[in-house]
Amino acid sequence: MPTCIFCNILSDLAPAQFVYHDELCAAFMDIRPINPGHVLVVPRVHAALLSELDQASAGRLLQVAQRVDAALRASGLPCEGVNLFLADGRPAGQEVLHVHLHVIPRFHGDGHHLRFSSAYFTATAVTELEKNADLIRTCMGGKV
Ligand code: AMP
Ligand code: ZN
Repeated sequence: MPTCIFCNILSDLAPAQFVYHDELCAAFMDIRPINPGHVLVVPRVHAALLSELDQASAGRLLQVAQRVDAALRASGLPCEGVNLFLADGRPAGQEVLHVHLHVIPRFHGDGHHLRFSSAYFTATAVTELEKNADLIRTCMGGKV
């Protein structure tokens, strides 16, 4: 396995500014913050994709993000809202191939925007939604 920067950080082989850690996850400052206070929540176990992560770590990831979210709002840093963002796979924008959940403080006028193609603004036919739901449902394993 090629060297993973987040595994190195979690093993204290590379520096980071930790804000939290437990037996499953840690949270540290993003080196290239979108806004001041941008934190990454990272599972201790190495998994590239969310679907490869064990359920306990995946669940803890969101619990820690919830606490970071609350801490950011109380911190005094500019934080009127929070974006959670997880890039799952290269085409989704994932640069570091170790699962991580971005917790990004947001405020009015911070200048950042999420952009979607024009396809987003056109409602999809119900038949198309049903067809796609069927494809996903089949792979969900379990009752809906
Ligand atoms: P992603 O595009 O979702 O894979 O995001 C990777 C994030 O990891 C980026 O926001 C980087 O700024 C951040 N990052 C990369 N290397 C480090 C590092 N050594 N310490 C802290 N954050 C890092
Ligand atoms: Zn790793």
